[in-house]
Amino acid sequence: MTRDFAILTTNLTKRYGNVAAASGLNIAIPRGSICALIGRNGAGKTTLLRMLFGMVLPTRGTGEVLGLSIVDRRASVEIRRRAAFVDPTALYPWMSVAEMLRFARGCYSDWNRAREVAGIFALDLPLDRKIATLSKGMRTTLAVLLALAGDSEVLFFDEPTDGLDPIVREQVLRSLVAINAAHESTLLISSHQLAELEEIANWLCLMDRGRLVLAGDMDELRASHRRLDVRWASQSGAVAGAIPGVVGMTRNGEFGTLIVAEDIGDSLRSLGGNIVKEQPASLKKIVLAYAAPDVGNVSWVLQGGSNGLA
Ligand code: ATP
Repeated sequence: MTRDFAILTTNLTKRYGNVAAASGLNIAIPRGSICALIGRNGAGKTTLLRMLFGMVLPTRGTGEVLGLSIVDRRASVEIRRRAAFVDPTALYPWMSVAEMLRFARGCYSDWNRAREVAGIFALDLPLDRKIATLSKGMRTTLAVLLALAGDSEVLFFDEPTDGLDPIVREQVLRSLVAINAAHESTLLISSHQLAELEEIANWLCLMDRGRLVLAGDMDELRASHRRLDVRWASQSGAVAGAIPGVVGMTRNGEFGTLIVAEDIGDSLRSLGGNIVKEQPASLKKIVLAYAAPDVGNVSWVLQGGSNGLA
């Protein structure tokens, strides 16, 4: 199936001196998807978002948002007209919600009044309150409404639920799903937390130390990976991590767990490994396997090379 992509990058790279904030990114995010951009601190998520929105120029490589080049000045202006970087800190705190909306109306040539009105009711925003007095969650919600009424086709979010309590976080996440469903907009949401985005996102980009280490449709990623619990007959199991198709491995004496992207039964048996249990791998385990080793208290053996990336 050919997909229509809202975001495409080719070898997209950003260096700050010796630091490779983003390295050789080849990313493809389908239109209309909710993409979770996951990675630990310093993985390069913000740098990627800023390059896509034209706030930072790449050192090398290129990319497109809605078919418009991010390295072409005119096209980049058009990207900022058709997409939005949802930033609650960019609201004017001295304005009331109504004043902010009136001001924003004058900034957009395609302001969608019907969406504004529907959003005010759906999101339960208090029009007469000063923005300075709104909670963080309300400010995020207002920023989302501005982007929506501005008719944005792509919305970028950098840690939108950071610092929100669980109830408000849930409301913000639900409003993102509603936006995506109602307007078929593409959402790219960065977060450290896979768990909170797993429920709403259908596409995943996992970054680690500036690189894209895993990407794709979440259901396809779940379906293409298995978790194997293995009992080893000999020490040779230590090299199982080198079998093509093994993306992550833990070992505790004679027992081990493998996350695999291929059928590796024959190779395992030849190394003295006996599969005790085979089951679908959770997305969390898959992400841990592809992300850096020593995540949490589990030491995962990382395999380079074939990881099924787009
Ligand atoms: P976090 O989750 O902590 O926000 P991130 O995944 O968004 O991290 P980035 O902010 O993109 O990561 O940073 C990636 C790397 O690039 C980090 O090592 C960071 O220190 C570095 N970096 C980012 N911006 C700059 C800058 N303007 N000057 C120098 N180094 C930078």
